[in-house]
Amino acid sequence: MTTVGVLEETGEGERRVALTPDGVQRLRRLGVEVTVQTGAGRRAWFGDEEYVAAGAATAGRGQVYATSDVLVCLDPPADVGEARDGQLLVGLLSPLTDPGLAQRLAVAGVTAVSLDLLPRTLSRAQAMDALTSQANVAGYQAAIVAAEAYGGYFPMLMTAAGTTRPAQVLVLGAGVAGLQAVATARRLGALVTAYDVRDAARADITSTGAAVLDLAGAGTGSAERTDGYAGELAADEAAAQQRALAAAIPRFDVVITTAQVPGKRPPVLVPAEALAAMRPGSVVVDLAAGPHGGNVAGSVPEQRTATAGGVTVIGAGRLPSTMPQAASTAYARNLIALLAALIPQGSVALDLGDEIQAAVVVTHGGKVVNPRVRELLDERKEIRS
Ligand code: NAD
Repeated sequence: MTTVGVLEETGEGERRVALTPDGVQRLRRLGVEVTVQTGAGRRAWFGDEEYVAAGAATAGRGQVYATSDVLVCLDPPADVGEARDGQLLVGLLSPLTDPGLAQRLAVAGVTAVSLDLLPRTLSRAQAMDALTSQANVAGYQAAIVAAEAYGGYFPMLMTAAGTTRPAQVLVLGAGVAGLQAVATARRLGALVTAYDVRDAARADITSTGAAVLDLAGAGTGSAERTDGYAGELAADEAAAQQRALAAAIPRFDVVITTAQVPGKRPPVLVPAEALAAMRPGSVVVDLAAGPHGGNVAGSVPEQRTATAGGVTVIGAGRLPSTMPQAASTAYARNLIALLAALIPQGSVALDLGDEIQAAVVVTHGGKVVNPRVRELLDERKEIRS
């Protein structure tokens, strides 16, 4: 019988787990065994006894590697070299930012399956869309974190002690996380304005009831790609966008930034001059803050800093991990939807003719089979030679 092994996450500060006890029960219905690494769910408050009650076995990490046919994770495990020939590794493996890992897994004979390559607009792929489920958590938490750091109320309150004005919140980047941040800040009573470089996103903003920030044509146009994602703005467009945003930003109390361009550094949307012009007590939350930069000048990943002018800047690139129960539960559902396709009759049977599997299977049979990842590896080879 096929065994699915759940590894404890190894990333610093990571609290999520790839499979929940509820997920174990669902997975067992596919006719597979499940082995969970001892303590894998503890940081998300899922105890070993719950996994066992749901039908899983628990074992040490080495045993999980040794006995599983399919390994599941969120981020690539630090000790991924332990995965062996013929094993499947399913997670958010970021092969477009780390194609070298894909190469190593191919050489080791591991079949790597990465949920971040899912074709997101296919309706039958939606249950598997882990980027969306995690971005929803991040967007929700961004508004909560901002409200907690802000020194005033989000809503307008009329009390015997007077009336408070509602907070003015600006959300930059209106993809999945941005729209969830808009909705959450609105539920908290703030007056919300949002902005995105894609035309389609402007209609999405309007449908949430938020106002659309108009930059009078700056930062529009060349950024719309055919796959629904934003592309990178040309240097002159990006400079015009920064200038227009810098003029608009100081009237807001809270700015939440979520802008990403797949495979590129995040664009800077809140330059230093905009931060300097904001009122003391304002809050900026940067969801794009990570090792490759962020949307806010000077934001530090996973840190809360204050500018000389009294603006709090929160580098918040890993918010899903701060809500580990909900994030893990949603991720587990995404994973199970994909595993149901990969393990149709209780044993692994890949179908690379299937549009979803062709997109998410990165390595197989000792080779990198995903064309986008192969292209990236070829480009690197060309640069080196
Ligand atoms: P993302 O995380 O890649 O980027 C977040 C947002 O930043 C995007 O809306 C992008 O347009 C915006 N952005 C990038 N550069 C910018 C700039 N310079 N200025 C302002 N904004 C900028 O995006 P995402 O949330 O993963 O969504 C990507 C696309 O996929 C969207 O069109 C989304 O609606 C679509 N999507 C579709 C489905 C579906 O059809 N089921 C599911 C999920 C996402």
